[in-house]
Amino acid sequence: MPSDIEIAQAATLRKILPLAHERLGLPEDSLVPYGHYKAKLSLAHIAGLQDRPDGHLVLVTAITPTPPGEGKTTTTVGLGDALGQIGKHAMVCLREPSLGPCFGMKGGAAGGGHAQVVPMEDINLHFTGDFHAIGLAHNLLSALIDNHVHHGNALGLDVRRITWRRVVDMNDRALRQITVALGGPGNGYPREDGYDIVVASEVMAILCLATSLADLKRRLGNIVVGYTAAKQPVRARDLKADGAMAALLKDALAPNLVQTMEGTPAFVHGGPFANIAHGCNSLIATRTALKLADYVVTEAGFGADLGAEKFIDIKCRKGGLKPACAVLVATVRAIKHHGGSGLEGVAALEAGMANLRRHVENVQQHLGLPTVVAINQFTQDTPQELAAIAQACADLGVRCVLANHWAHGGAGATELAHAVVQLCEAAPPRRAEVYADELTLDQKIEAVARKIYRADGVRFEPKARQQLAELQAQGWGGLPVCIAKTQYSFSTDPGRLGAPEGHVLPVRELRLNAGAEFVTAICGDIMTMPGLPKAPAAERISVDDAGRISGLF
Ligand code: ADP
Ligand code: MG
Repeated sequence: MPSDIEIAQAATLRKILPLAHERLGLPEDSLVPYGHYKAKLSLAHIAGLQDRPDGHLVLVTAITPTPPGEGKTTTTVGLGDALGQIGKHAMVCLREPSLGPCFGMKGGAAGGGHAQVVPMEDINLHFTGDFHAIGLAHNLLSALIDNHVHHGNALGLDVRRITWRRVVDMNDRALRQITVALGGPGNGYPREDGYDIVVASEVMAILCLATSLADLKRRLGNIVVGYTAAKQPVRARDLKADGAMAALLKDALAPNLVQTMEGTPAFVHGGPFANIAHGCNSLIATRTALKLADYVVTEAGFGADLGAEKFIDIKCRKGGLKPACAVLVATVRAIKHHGGSGLEGVAALEAGMANLRRHVENVQQHLGLPTVVAINQFTQDTPQELAAIAQACADLGVRCVLANHWAHGGAGATELAHAVVQLCEAAPPRRAEVYADELTLDQKIEAVARKIYRADGVRFEPKARQQLAELQAQGWGGLPVCIAKTQYSFSTDPGRLGAPEGHVLPVRELRLNAGAEFVTAICGDIMTMPGLPKAPAAERISVDDAGRISGLF
């Protein structure tokens, strides 16, 4: 089997303007082309679509993954293509890949096999420049902070209490903790600082939740950059940063239109981290797709305990979205992995089904979404293994479909597409949130921990307990919570596979995202600046004399 990039490069792409016209009825002047195969849909045109009815929104989520990923993006693309194959009018909405990880271990994030969005190299590298704009808007605020302190610090920012770091879109562990402003009085006041990767920037989360340019600017102004010695918050608005930041982001806010290898239109837009942020593509892209197509398939990062919960409790709650159903992606590989060591074949599979079972219950009961399980087929899966999963799903009373879009494109997922259409048509879309807005922050965290992670309770460490009291007192109690924890377990211990019980959720720290409008609860060690592995993918990536890229996977 050729690699993802080889398959993507062999695809015949259609020019994006005629494709957008034919498939979505978009007039040429509604689009701003970035070359032949990428375009931004103008915000002015989007504003004119608001009176149209919405299509069906389908969430693709997954069981607890193994490190290589179980195929959510691949399945989102394959299902979009399959819906087209059975005569439905579908669109796909994905996040933009982060540049740094392309050079590390994980490779690109544009799908896989015969289910990819293209041009794959462009989407993975630079794309339409959104992440550069986001990084720059973020770093403009950083520069304004140090400049303000240098020129007299009229706001009284305590340089030890500056929480706004700097960002770059690269995996670079050397930048995690740094000292800035060295070299004498002309260079400012030295202080400790550090870099996060661009996808971890609050500006990214803001761009993905903003409903308009005005809303974007308002949220940017609300960002808290640090505190005075008296612990009063200092905002980006106090530094007069919001206008210039919004100016840098005006094009980035418009969704990017590309196509799948089968010509299904796809918005690839925004890409917030799935741990400290909510892990979904932009609200503007999803809302717009619902106006343009009858079926919109979208992905949320990590397993359903993190991605699907945040999709419902943050993105859908804030954006007024009503998803119709969920596709829960499972693989033989991951289910066996959850069976634990010491077991082989079908025995491991049966033990590992506990993980799938719990996710199905969660998504159906606590997130309120009718669910179909999609087994993303790998060539090495045996008929006995596939039959065992099908039987376990039958026992559970959930529909289970074998999908091989990775090998065959949309044609490999038509049964899944039919199952999704049935779910969409069976019941009106609704939304069952895990917690109500009125609960306090600790009650919200506890609700997620007990209902979704099935923890016995929550333990707030002393610092988190104090932050909780401060945030409640300052009036932030009405915000949703965004839990940052490992994606490899329902618990905070990545080694506890399957469906762990008897665990407690330890909350170490709370972080206010006043602009993005959620409070992040840090549980366990969370990395906001990844590093590169010993043999990084960068060593194998190259470009030939004709400009053709190789080694990206
Ligand atoms: P996720 O979005 O869940 O992280 P992806 O869809 O990005 O996962 O897939 C992760 C990797 O696994 C990709 O490199 C993709 O090519 C590969 N992959 C996905 N499905 C299959 C499959 N059925 N067989 C082989 N490789 C697959
Ligand atoms: Mg993905």
